Parts: sequence; structure tokens; C-alpha cells
Amino acid sequence: MKKKLLSTAMSMVLVFALMGTAQAATPENPWKFSSSSIQFYNDGSNTFYKGIWTTGASRWSGTGNVTMGTGTKYDFRAGNQKVSPTKDNDWDGICYTTYSNGIASKTRAWVNEYYTTQSRYSPSITEGVATHELGHALGLAHNDSEPSVMKSFTFWSDGSLARTNTSPTSADKDTVKKKYGTIALSQANPSTPVVHIDASWAYGYRDYTALANAVDAIVEGQVVQENGVRKSGSGAPETYRTESEFQISEVIKGNASLRNSTINVLQLGGRDREAIVVSDDTTPLKQGDQSILFLKQNEDGTYRVVNEDTSIFMKVTNQTLQDGKMEMYQNQKSKALVSKENLKGVTN
Ligand SMILES: [Zn+2]
Repeated sequence: MKKKLLSTAMSMVLVFALMGTAQAATPENPWKFSSSSIQFYNDGSNTFYKGIWTTGASRWSGTGNVTMGTGTKYDFRAGNQKVSPTKDNDWDGICYTTYSNGIASKTRAWVNEYYTTQSRYSPSITEGVATHELGHALGLAHNDSEPSVMKSFTFWSDGSLARTNTSPTSADKDTVKKKYGTIALSQANPSTPVVHIDASWAYGYRDYTALANAVDAIVEGQVVQENGVRKSGSGAPETYRTESEFQISEVIKGNASLRNSTINVLQLGGRDREAIVVSDDTTPLKQGDQSILFLKQNEDGTYRVVNEDTSIFMKVTNQTLQDGKMEMYQNQKSKALVSKENLKGVTN
């Protein structure tokens, strides 16, 4: 799916080059609403949490290519929940989209009160998180390369504000226009319903040192078993998380006694006979994968890879190594190559 999205993005770039438009648009997710007039049920628990969604919707309406407002539709709800990061991952906002044939059929967007009740989250910043999630609902993906409300995280780990745009920027507007304006471009067409998870991370990390400082453990090892989907509560697709057993060969940071033991690592999404739940923010770990993982521990004893791909470093296979003696790893978010020695160095 990632490759398909990438090639779609590439052809978009080509289209824009042909049109003579210099600026890139925010990347797309493979769905849209069936109409440019979009209603959602405002599930905010009080005036404040209702207000952030109303504000976010008016900002997208302000782009001129959609009208978004509150109504009574139950297939699109937006509200607030309180989810501890030790029970899931470190998101301050999340959007779950079920879609089929490129059209969204069910949308759930939440801001996470665990974060939004913290003093760091001013009303304006929380409105920005809500606007970001409504962007996902409309079918926009993350844009970390130019000014965008679709920046994938809210704060830098040093506490400074990262998502400085709390309203759609010109790059975001271009994508809304492309999806909902007069020029219709082809959509990816999955034949079975797919649920997509799109988060807004609470924190981003400027470098590996900042990430290392934030995590409980950095471990090297191998996936020895795929345990499949773990559901919670109702078992709804939104709760799908995938568990892998990871055997640790070296502890770079954290409890040294973890060496030679096996831990369970959770990732967003998963698939079984009932649903396919996808997060483009994570690369599902497969049996045999050798990697270095930056981890925080959950309250049930499992571990999470912080911000998913940000914390997954896959060992590069020997064939592609330029120097066979160096153990090289590839970060799954940035695709940057880094040596094991460098990763060990960041904890010093
Ligand atoms: Zn997001």
C-alpha cells in the first residue's frame, strides 16, 4: 500500500510539474467523502470540546472547496477521549477512517484529553489538533516538509511548538481543491473496506539523541514471532493493535537484564478475518526482522515503539551494505541510514 501511495504521490508531482505549479501539495490518503458538503456529529463532551471541532470545520470550509459543519450523521463523529499513552501510543489526536472504493463510509476523530488538559495545550493548539484530524477525515495525509496543519506532531520533545500552523495552509488547500474541486483525479480503489488510523503525535524528536532521552529502552534484536491482532473492549477495528515477540540480543539503553529475554511490542493497526486496519505511520514487524527499537513500556508490561516508524530501525541486508563490516540500520520514518555505533553513541 505504501508503494502505491508513493507512486500516486509521484504522479501528482508530475501532474503539477506539467501544470507549471511550483508548490507541492500536502500528500493524500486514498479516500474522500462522497460529497463536498460534509456533516459530522459533534460528540464533544462540553462547550470547549464542541467548539474545537466547530472551529476546525469552519477552517476547512474556509478553503472554499468543501463545506463542513455539524449535523446528526452518526457515521462521522468527532469528540474527545482520555487515553493514557501507556495504554496505546503517544497521540494527542487520532482519526479512524473506514473506506471502500475510495469513499469514506465511517469516520471517528478524537482529541486526547490526556494531553489537551495539560497547560502546554492552549485552546489554540488544541483547535489545531482538531483541525489536523479533520484534515485526515477529508483524506489528507501528513506533511512534514512544508508549512502545513498536517504536520505529524504538535510539539518538539523540548516543549517548543512544532505545528505552528493551526489552519490549512496553501499546501493543504491545494490538496483539498484537488480532491473536492472540479479537477477529479483518480483514487486508489481498495475492493474491501479498510480502516485507516491517522494520529497526531504529541511530540516530535529533532534527532536521535532527543528520541533516546524520551524512551525507556533501546534494544537490538529480532522478531521471533508474530502474535497477530490484539483487540480491546468491543473489539472494534479502531482497537486493533498488532503484537510481536521481540528477542533482545543487546540492550543499548534501559534495563540490562532484558538481554536475551523476549518482550512483546505493540504497533497500531492489524488485520484478521474481520477487518484490515492500516496505519501508514508504522511498518508492521515481521518474523525474522532484525532491528533496533526505541521503546516505552505500557502499563500491561508490553512495549510500544514511540511514534511508530520514528522508533523502528531495520537492519539493512548484507547485499545492500557498502561496507559489510558495519552494521547499518534504516530509520523507517526518515529512511535515513545510521550505523549501530552511531545509535549507541546517542545515549552517551
Ligand atoms: Zn496526523
